[in-house]
Amino acid sequence: MLTKGISVYHFYFFMMKKLIIILLLLPFLAYSQITGSCDFIPTPNMLDASKYSTTLRSDFSTDDPIVFNVYYHLINPSDGINPDGITEDHILASIAQLNINFNQYNIFYKYRGYRTIDDDVLYYDTDHSQYFDLLNLETDYADSINVMIIPTYVAAGGALFQEQYVKMPAWNFANILIGNTTITHEFGHLAGLMHPFRGTSASSETIFNDVCPPILDVTYSNEYLITPGTYTSASENVTRDANSSYFNAAVTGDMVIDTPAQFYHATYNFCKNLTTGEITYISHPDIIDNSGTDEPYIDVDIQNFMAYGYMGKIHFTNGQGVRMRETILDPTNTEFTPRMTVVSALYEPYKNYLGAGDIVISIEDLGNGFLLVCRNIVNLDYFQPGFDYDFYLDANSDPFDSFTAGYDVPIFNNTYQIGTKIYQLDDSSIVFTSGVCARGQICVEEAIGSGKVLTFTNYNNPNYTEQTLDSIQASDPNLIQQLENNKYHHIEKTSIKGNKVEETIYKTDN
Ligand SMILES: [Zn+2]
Repeated sequence: MLTKGISVYHFYFFMMKKLIIILLLLPFLAYSQITGSCDFIPTPNMLDASKYSTTLRSDFSTDDPIVFNVYYHLINPSDGINPDGITEDHILASIAQLNINFNQYNIFYKYRGYRTIDDDVLYYDTDHSQYFDLLNLETDYADSINVMIIPTYVAAGGALFQEQYVKMPAWNFANILIGNTTITHEFGHLAGLMHPFRGTSASSETIFNDVCPPILDVTYSNEYLITPGTYTSASENVTRDANSSYFNAAVTGDMVIDTPAQFYHATYNFCKNLTTGEITYISHPDIIDNSGTDEPYIDVDIQNFMAYGYMGKIHFTNGQGVRMRETILDPTNTEFTPRMTVVSALYEPYKNYLGAGDIVISIEDLGNGFLLVCRNIVNLDYFQPGFDYDFYLDANSDPFDSFTAGYDVPIFNNTYQIGTKIYQLDDSSIVFTSGVCARGQICVEEAIGSGKVLTFTNYNNPNYTEQTLDSIQASDPNLIQQLENNKYHHIEKTSIKGNKVEETIYKTDN
């Protein structure tokens, strides 16, 4: 019987090959596209029972933090325009999501930035197996987990364990701002997790429609599928009685004992309460495991990040947390160490901008077709989103700002020092990074793009004539000489960046 506390099981493992390729397909894709969708082939190391404890535990807070560098590659057509509208906002949201979902296991992800590759050859190449080489990931980016955002990719995501890289189709990555969790699923694979339904087939047959009562959201389950049609040798039985001869949770399926037995098309057999949001699996006596005892599936966990389907995914299990940590810390899994970094890196801004701020201090017409625009100087530190933060100016005062783990990016003008507390790491430490004394101003020349002249006969007379100027007219050093004598002229010149100088003169004839 599986009880709380410490339970020990023996792990048995199947012969497996080295390469791990996982593809997650969305259920609304035609099933003909699912071929080879989740070819998960763990390394021999992962199959060595001596490498994994079978201890169930729920508190990871005293485990040493593990920190990975993550770098992104955004592939666009040669014109540089991303058809799916992917920006750094999406990338930052994915880093935040990863940390929100993995930090409880003391696994962290340090954002190391992204690059854009504007290249039609890569953009239209549907053979993504070449990307690892084409993007020089092995030579130039071997110190990071790499995420490739690929446009021409019909699967919802993919991951290669030994190369430690993830493939995300741009159309799906664009959904991250509305809660898509595919990237969490793929990073689960990178840390050694398998699908909980592993060993059940994709074949299915609809046995009845509209299984959900009217008050429930039938868009989540408008049909009930009799699945799996067939099993492979690695399907997991429902029983959690460790003394049962049918108990095989440690050696089949995802080999994690606290993830309930699941089948491939389970996603169709759920209802969602529109009021509470609760997801309920609808058990059925015909939907049974492969034990031969007619055991129906009961506690199917469709909201596990490693499950398939389009319902909201919200958790890993603690058993998955244990397995991820033990996979990562296994010294014979050599994929991980080169991609790790120090904990202190998480306190460092991921980006700094030292330069002109938003405040315009002065604008001067240089008389040569340019305006000299002077702005304040700022030293902006950008902190990656996804942690519960407090920010301090000194250790003895209250924080000047706080953030709750989410997608908002903390950005501060750091002119002396900024102290950072990350609750997910250590709620007793404040780590300071020094700033730059940013006094003075930065002046740049901006070309004059347009202008206008308002001409008055009397300064108090509301009637005037208006002449609009193009860039050549507004830049003309002889502009004033060409204006009418004995009248007032209000002259405006606007730079191509929208900064404006204006003056009013009275022109005499001498
Ligand atoms: Zn997968």
